[in-house]
Amino acid sequence: MNESLIKGALIVLYAEMAALTEAECATVCGAAYAELMGPAYARCCEGNGHMCEAAIERATDVFGVTLARVHHHPTLSLMGPAGCTAAPHYRPLCTIHTCEINSLGFKRGAPEWTDEYFARRERLMELEAKRLSIQNLKETEYERATIRN
Ligand code: SF4
Repeated sequence: MNESLIKGALIVLYAEMAALTEAECATVCGAAYAELMGPAYARCCEGNGHMCEAAIERATDVFGVTLARVHHHPTLSLMGPAGCTAAPHYRPLCTIHTCEINSLGFKRGAPEWTDEYFARRERLMELEAKRLSIQNLKETEYERATIRN
């Protein structure tokens, strides 16, 4: 599998993972957070502005895309009025996050959901490892060529 096929597969798989985890944010975690903080702050990424910066960096470094800062939220530069403006593959750690997985390691009362989640996560990690090894190889070759010249 070459690099562009891997990236294409990552885009699809992160979108599918987002569909799985966003439903959790919208119901399980988000609802509790909204009750506490108000609907404008109904996200557990509240206070994690560094994750937006990491997404901006990854979009440029891995996909060659410049993400625009939204200036809607006081600390989250990619948070727009209707949620995150970054596609799921630009923000992998946000995409795979749910509060129950993060705190308990499973979704309560939902073993099938948990199995599906970890199967998808494992596939994503495999592809990310392949992508990273290709990237490292390219960087090493570039460094060798720079030293030679
Ligand atoms: S990238 Fe999006 S989901 Fe992640 S912390 Fe920023 S606003 Fe939240």
